[in-house]
Amino acid sequence: MTDTSIHIATLPVMEHFYTIQGEGYHQGKAAYFIRLGGCDVGCVWCDVKDSWDADKHPQVEIKQLRDHVKATPGEIVVITGGEPLLHNLDDLTAVLHEAGLKTNIETSGSSALSGSWDWICLSPKKFKAPLPEVLAAAHELKVVVFNKSDFSWAEKHAALVSPSCKLYLQPEWSKAAEMVPLIVDYIKDHPKWELSLQLHKYIHVP
Ligand code: SF4
Repeated sequence: MTDTSIHIATLPVMEHFYTIQGEGYHQGKAAYFIRLGGCDVGCVWCDVKDSWDADKHPQVEIKQLRDHVKATPGEIVVITGGEPLLHNLDDLTAVLHEAGLKTNIETSGSSALSGSWDWICLSPKKFKAPLPEVLAAAHELKVVVFNKSDFSWAEKHAALVSPSCKLYLQPEWSKAAEMVPLIVDYIKDHPKWELSLQLHKYIHVP
């Protein structure tokens, strides 16, 4: 396998694993997750606070990450975090594409867009607003619903993405029992939205 010319050879990696995508448009599909360290967003309900400090996580060679993915039959790689766009991801996505893999990202959109993506899932956060360039490029808008006021916040962001962007409402995990009935009612009244559940948490896979 030939490599592209790599400028960023390593990235801080908190964990990487082959599993099933549990959320959003690609829910239910096999996917190789790479969770990068580093986040400056600071969501109060964050369930991966260990990811915040990039220095706590080992630098892993991009080529090594590609080899881990290629050791599985997986075709989709999901780059998540943390906030993965804190890093320049041009070289990572070039290497993954060169290996014939699909590149998906899950981001808050609050840092500059880098990388070449087959799918951008934008999950905006109240603690650091998404940039217009990421809103415009998103294939999927996934809004986490923590309380009732989040519906109007979701609509505010839906007005900023492209007309072809898929729209998802997802209950925050600890409030799911309370929020799912409200989300179901909201979707029935506003059918441009769809429900996203964190399937992986229900079936106990990473
Ligand atoms: S953007 Fe993601 S990783 Fe960062 S604080 Fe929010 S939920 Fe946690």
